[in-house]
Amino acid sequence: MTGNTRGFDTLAVHAGAEPDPATGARQVPIYQSTSYVFRDAEHAARLFNLEEVGYIYSRLTNPTVSALAARVAALEGAAGGIGCSSGHAAQIMALFPLMGPGRNVVSSSRLYGGTITQFSQTIRRFGWSAKFVDTDDLDAVRAAIDEDTRALFCETIANPGGYVTDLDAMAAIADEAGIPLIVDNTTATPYLCRPIDHGATLVVHSATKYMTGNGTVTGGIVVDSGKFDWSASDKFPSLSQPEPAYHGLNFHGALGPMAFTFHSIAVGLRDLGMTMNPQGAHYTLMGIETLGLRMERHVANAKAVAEWLEKDPRIEGVTYAGLASSPWAERAQRIVPKGAGALFTVAVKGGYDACVKLVDSLELFSHVANLGDTRSLIIHPASTTHRQLEEDQQIAAGAAPNVVRISIGIENVEDIIADLDQGLTKATA
Ligand SMILES: *Cc1c(COP(=O)(O)O)cnc(C)c1O
Repeated sequence: MTGNTRGFDTLAVHAGAEPDPATGARQVPIYQSTSYVFRDAEHAARLFNLEEVGYIYSRLTNPTVSALAARVAALEGAAGGIGCSSGHAAQIMALFPLMGPGRNVVSSSRLYGGTITQFSQTIRRFGWSAKFVDTDDLDAVRAAIDEDTRALFCETIANPGGYVTDLDAMAAIADEAGIPLIVDNTTATPYLCRPIDHGATLVVHSATKYMTGNGTVTGGIVVDSGKFDWSASDKFPSLSQPEPAYHGLNFHGALGPMAFTFHSIAVGLRDLGMTMNPQGAHYTLMGIETLGLRMERHVANAKAVAEWLEKDPRIEGVTYAGLASSPWAERAQRIVPKGAGALFTVAVKGGYDACVKLVDSLELFSHVANLGDTRSLIIHPASTTHRQLEEDQQIAAGAAPNVVRISIGIENVEDIIADLDQGLTKATA
């Protein structure tokens, strides 16, 4: 039923979910249970030894969350996956088995703003650090990697500017250095891009965005290709050597391609507790059933809106990589051939004041700090998310004062354009 040779939309509806063995329920039930009764003491011991796969306690695994992790793993072409409490939790969970005090991650400088803060400030409390580089400068990426680097990190389509990363080039550099490439695939989704096909090892998602798709859930997912050889060097002792946090188990030796997934559950979720809840997993499973349909509409609408905006005299520029005029147009054809996502920035004539007025004048668009909703969304980063930055920092982040970020929804495109039209008239009057 869940054979990975099936098409994307078939997997989106079926992967990871069989009719419920106890009741025959066709839809994945919300298993709202903290614990699971062991058959006998021998069964319990086998579960704790990872000799048999089963359910112990919902901080570790839960049947609804496992169905979601298996579905996303199938869509991404991965060996296994882990449900997490948020996209930011997924990022920590991806780094956790790889890092240690004194270790670093080399990261693209074009990132979701929250990730820049997580990487530049918060992970330092663990003794980890990040080095930010422009991923278009491949020599700079190579030069930033040192003997303490344990991963390379980037986003497929970077927030807020819609910049497309050359994943093949990043994977080749990670490969040379003997470290995994981690890709945040939130804004592309596996419908537009499967980073593992481009050489990535780990893929992280904020399920909060397009996966669930309707702004109801905070959740995250990590999936692992199962292809990285953790034992090829002594860089990843938690996976390739006896793990003191799990009675000396050698995860790679015992579990092969599932080493990362099982370590993340048995040690990561057990001790960090960044677990997804079954109700959130259920909503995300429902969302994923229509992911392909929604993304098709999202990218068609985004392209039409970007083309309309580009020609409008009230606009100074549009960053959408799906435009023929974009400097990333050719790369987008290779990395995201079905469309360059639905998130981009627009520079409005009249600067800061016109942007604020545009946001306040729109009627269909919602002014929110979110993206990837069925609804069209807008935000003016310089007066909100990037307010604390100096102007030169705002410009470097793609959030200059004259720029708004828009996330195009799945409404009728004529209505989206009509709303922008009336809003721009008021904003630039
Ligand atoms: C929203 C987002 C995150 C963080 O996800 P949360 O679910 O809000 O924790 C990470 N990366 C990208 C690209 C995002 O858009």
